[in-house]
Amino acid sequence: MGLLTGKNAIIFGLANDKSIAWGITQAFAREGARIGISYAGEALEKRVRPLAAQVGADFVEQCDVASDEQIAAVAEKARAHFGEVDILVHSIGFANKDELQGYFYNTSRAGFHLAMDISVYSFVALAKAFQPFLRKGGALLTLTYYGSVKVAPNYNMMGVAKAALEASTRYLARDFGPQGVRVNAISAGPIRTLAAMGVSGFRDMHKSFLEIAPLHEHVTIEDVGNAAVYLCSDWAAKVTGEIHYVDSGYNIMGTPEPGAFKEKQE
Ligand code: NAD
Repeated sequence: MGLLTGKNAIIFGLANDKSIAWGITQAFAREGARIGISYAGEALEKRVRPLAAQVGADFVEQCDVASDEQIAAVAEKARAHFGEVDILVHSIGFANKDELQGYFYNTSRAGFHLAMDISVYSFVALAKAFQPFLRKGGALLTLTYYGSVKVAPNYNMMGVAKAALEASTRYLARDFGPQGVRVNAISAGPIRTLAAMGVSGFRDMHKSFLEIAPLHEHVTIEDVGNAAVYLCSDWAAKVTGEIHYVDSGYNIMGTPEPGAFKEKQE
C-alpha cells in the first residue's frame, strides 16, 4: 500500500521531464495515486503524453488557465472521469520576460495583471471549479518561492505574485476547512526548469544558493515530489494553510557563512 493508494490526484503544470510537476507526478504514482494530468496547450502535448503514459495516467487534458471556459471544461471532464477528486496540484506560474529583470518599478500594468492572473488567480479559479467534487480528506497544493517574503533580484513581479499566492493559500485553507480539504504550498529552492530559466541571473543565483543553504545541496524535483506526497497524504491530516519550505534550509539563514564567497572577492 502506498501513502496515496485510493486517491485520485490531478496535477496542473506539467511541461516536460524537468518540471516540478513531473517530480510530483512520479512521487504520487509511486505512492499509488490514480493520476490525472493537465497541461497548458497543444504545443506541449507531444512531451506530456509520453510522460503521462509512463505513470499510467488515464486522464490527460489540456487547459489554459487564462480561460474560465477551459477551467470549467477540464473540471467537468475530471468529474465525469474520476467522480470525486482527492488531490489537486497547481504547479503553474508565468510572467513576461520583461517583468523578470531590472527594476521592479518598470513592471507594466498589463504585465502585472498577466502574472497575477496566471500565477495566482488560476489557483483560486481551479479550487472553485473542483470544489463541488473534492472528497473529504483531500488536499490542494501550490508551488511558491522565497522571493515572496524577501527580495530576490530580478524575480520582481513573480515575488509579488507569490506573496499573493501564499495569502491565497491561507484564505483558501479557511474556506475549505469545513469541507475537510486542506490547502498548502511548497516553497521550493531554485531548480533549473523552463520557468526558472526565464528569470534573469537565475544561473548565478542557483550557484550561490549552494554556499548559503545549510545543507549545501540543490533541491531536486524528487525532493519536492516527496514533500508533496506528505502534504497531500493523510499523514498531514491536520496541516493546512502552511507554506512548507523545501529549500535545503536556505530561508533560515540571515547571512552567508564567513568566507563563503571568498574566491569571488579576491
Ligand atoms: P515549468 O516551466 O516546468 O512549469 C511551469 C508550468 O506553468 C508549465 O507547465 C507551463 O505550461 C504552465 N503554465 C504557464 N502558463 C499557463 C497557462 N496559461 N495555463 C496553464 N498552464 C500554464 O517550471 P517549474 O519550475 O516546474 O514551475 C512550476 C511552479 O513551481 C511555478 O509556480 C513556479 O513559480 C514554481 N517554483 C519554481 C521554482 C524553480 O526554481 N524552478 C522554485 C519555486 C517555485
